[in-house]
Amino acid sequence: MRQVLLLLLSLALLPGCASSPQAAPPQDPAPPSADLVIHGGTVVTMDVERRVLEGGALVIRGSRIVDVLPAGAELPRAARTLDAQGHLVIPGLVNTHGHSPMVLFRGIADDMALMEWLNDFIFPAEARTVDADFVYWGALLAAAEMARSGTTTYCEMYYFEDQVAKATAEVGLRGVLGQTIIGFPAPDYESPQAALKGTEAYLQRWREHPLITPSVAPHALYTTKLEVVRQAAELARRYGVPFQIHANESPAEDEAVREQYGATSVELLRREGLLVPRTLIHHGITLTQEDRSALAEAKAGISHNPESNMKGASGLADVAALRAAGIAVGLGTDGPAGNNNLDLFEELDTCAKVHKLAAKSPTAMPAKEVFAMATREGAQALGLGDQVGSLEPGKLADVVLIDTRVPELTPLYDVYSQLVYAIKGGHVRHVFVHGEQVVADRELTRVDVKRILAEARRLQQKVLANLEAFRREKKQGR
Ligand SMILES: [Zn+2]
Repeated sequence: MRQVLLLLLSLALLPGCASSPQAAPPQDPAPPSADLVIHGGTVVTMDVERRVLEGGALVIRGSRIVDVLPAGAELPRAARTLDAQGHLVIPGLVNTHGHSPMVLFRGIADDMALMEWLNDFIFPAEARTVDADFVYWGALLAAAEMARSGTTTYCEMYYFEDQVAKATAEVGLRGVLGQTIIGFPAPDYESPQAALKGTEAYLQRWREHPLITPSVAPHALYTTKLEVVRQAAELARRYGVPFQIHANESPAEDEAVREQYGATSVELLRREGLLVPRTLIHHGITLTQEDRSALAEAKAGISHNPESNMKGASGLADVAALRAAGIAVGLGTDGPAGNNNLDLFEELDTCAKVHKLAAKSPTAMPAKEVFAMATREGAQALGLGDQVGSLEPGKLADVVLIDTRVPELTPLYDVYSQLVYAIKGGHVRHVFVHGEQVVADRELTRVDVKRILAEARRLQQKVLANLEAFRREKKQGR
């Protein structure tokens, strides 16, 4: 041992081994100027010119895109490079409406009238089962499904929204997350007043979070008193956060609201001065020309949910008229108990087709326009249009890679046709949000999916037991 030490010491003292002023300093390689370069894929930018760059590259530093380069451009040194050959590189999809923890009710009851579905299944199951634990695991399950199918930003409203925010941040997705305020005792708050108070505390807790935009979400005008909706709008205005509400969602709802107030939901909101900045209307199926003008003037957004509306036989929003009026229209899945999935690619496909059928014209709702609704326009509807929704320098790095080297996606003639009519969520391979990889080779990087599935099965047993108890009590006439 001693000999070894002596040998090392003498070696260190040999000329050339010790540092000396004459020796040339070692050439330090220049530090990388980017954290990540994704190169070689087909970059579908969704910028204003809708550029598609074959063999292009995205340069990402921290949470942002700093450059979008054409094929052949010199690439900067990066800490990590990702070869995207054979892949489409697209902006992360934006789902503008949902009630994500309801994934735990998916398939509980289908193919029945709305009131039977609500009164015999959803309401009793919610009343007896929904608590913070249920919402947390449901939100994790939903976020996992959305991440794996290419959604990077989603907007939703439910109870115990704190838990949804926590789960969303854990999976690493971006969320516009609305605390629901409703006119009857809810699983989290006994009264609308308690909900309003709780919502304010929720806004304060999450408003500085890089991924979470907290939001105020009165359920609808037929379930919540006008005065409460007014207070909710005022709260959203005071905190500068999005205000979201179901409105003009079916002929039956329209009738109920007209009967009570002598106006449509949107007309009432306008009349009462409740179309505040960053208002998002869910559904908007029965809007009148006046409603559309009011929404355009208020710069409100619309969430269009064709699959949920078809399944509930609620009708179809006049998306062409809304967009012609200059209103940002995003696409949404709505709650997974009424869809029954969170794959926005399916919604793209359905949206393009159902509007063609309704208009009796194959030229209605072209693929390129529908894809805009699921990206830049959806982001705009959420008030995040300057942050996400396209791949441009300065925007946040929310990026999805789709491997097209499979039979059903080969050959590829037109990227928009492929994205809307052929690609499904299952083709998504890698997902980045805020510059961080949240899905790698279809696997979530930040959460344990096996654990989430086990908890979902545990909660399914609870739902079944509670429904059974509800039926027993109903039979006994309690
Ligand atoms: Zn909804």
